[in-house]
Amino acid sequence: MPTLLPAELKLWQSVESTVKKILSNYAFQEIRTPLLERTELFQRTIGEQTDVVSKEMYSFLDRKEQSLSLRPEATAGVVRAGIEHGLFHNQTQKFWSMGPMYRYERPQKGRYRQFHQVNMEAFGYEGPGIDAELILLTSRIWRKLGVEDIQLELNSLGTAESRKGYRAILVEYFNDRTDSLDEDSILRLEKNPMRILDSKNPEMADVIHSAPKMNDHLDQESEDHFNGLLEYLDGHRIQYVLNPRLVRGLDYYTKTVFEWTTDKLGAQATVCGGGRYDDLVKQLGGKDVFAIGCAIGFERLVELVELSGKKDQNGHPKIYLVAVGDQAEAKSSELAEMIRDQFEDCVLELNQDGGSFKQQFKRADRAESDIALILGDEEIENDTIGIKLMKEGGDQETISQDKLLESIADKIGV
Ligand code: ATP
Ligand code: MG
Repeated sequence: MPTLLPAELKLWQSVESTVKKILSNYAFQEIRTPLLERTELFQRTIGEQTDVVSKEMYSFLDRKEQSLSLRPEATAGVVRAGIEHGLFHNQTQKFWSMGPMYRYERPQKGRYRQFHQVNMEAFGYEGPGIDAELILLTSRIWRKLGVEDIQLELNSLGTAESRKGYRAILVEYFNDRTDSLDEDSILRLEKNPMRILDSKNPEMADVIHSAPKMNDHLDQESEDHFNGLLEYLDGHRIQYVLNPRLVRGLDYYTKTVFEWTTDKLGAQATVCGGGRYDDLVKQLGGKDVFAIGCAIGFERLVELVELSGKKDQNGHPKIYLVAVGDQAEAKSSELAEMIRDQFEDCVLELNQDGGSFKQQFKRADRAESDIALILGDEEIENDTIGIKLMKEGGDQETISQDKLLESIADKIGV
């Protein structure tokens, strides 16, 4: 589980703020659910046969012997909360959330045991317009962050009803080829054969490739919905690839599923994945509510932004206050508060624990300051202050303390 250090968090924060702005622009509202839920919630929603539930969850018994798990994804918790708080009665909802998820996986670049997701979920919308909106929203995020080389893959898993027929055809196909299946897949053949299509075992690539395809077995309703979505995307000139083997790693999906993938991140190709889950709310004891959602893997997104060469996009001007001598130190604290009152978007660092002018200038330099303010005995005596532009190697000016705020505003251009 990685620790995020200040140096990398600069870019994280700037990506976060861009993403949040776009979410609110599409009228999504934030929701925060607990990191812990009953294990049963994930078993019932994500599915017992999925990798996530069967191998990757952090589960433990609490003091009352109740099994709890660290959340491996967000949708289950959001649906649970929505039912509990009556948020799905006769209303539509659009929620976003952001935070850590936990999966016991083999750690490697782009794959961690604690990672972060941005999640979007929309409830109560039946037509394909909302499917399109989620895709347009995510696509706007990539555009705004300067992320290129990312492609949209789409599939439809049909309604639960239409999947029954397909399931039988799939079982028959794999039953004739059990020699080509690994142990996991043989187990899934009985309980959840569609999971086999999600296998990452390269030795099974051929048998999966030739398997019957869900989109040849869609019912009319699912097909109309999917075609409706494609029309929207064509209208917006969003490019996509139809991938009949895209089934996603969680069991609750219906109809539309999609992933945004890239070839820039090695084996960890999926940056965002999602789809409809029209049966889930009811399955968990709520009303029959249409639903769709998707999750962006934040680490992978930040990595892509970094690769695109765009760095911290909201660098705030930085001021360092140098003060030498007891009186200067006392005065500098007073001036620092005054500057912070006036320039809320600036970073103001006040030198602490003394040091010579030379040492303090070195600190100002290391802190990558734009401006240094200088107070010594001489300045205190004359009610003046030194001001120096650090980055252009500019000369040091001495000004009256009354003119300080004006002069800072002038130098940082506000
Ligand atoms: P993968 O196929 O890479 O294992 P997944 O299908 O298990 O992904 P989802 O459950 O759809 O992933 O989660 C949505 C997104 O969260 C993924 O597309 C990915 O960007 C990110 N993600 C999932 N697991 C991890 C992880 N262990 N570390 C970092 N990011 C992850
Ligand atoms: Mg996974």
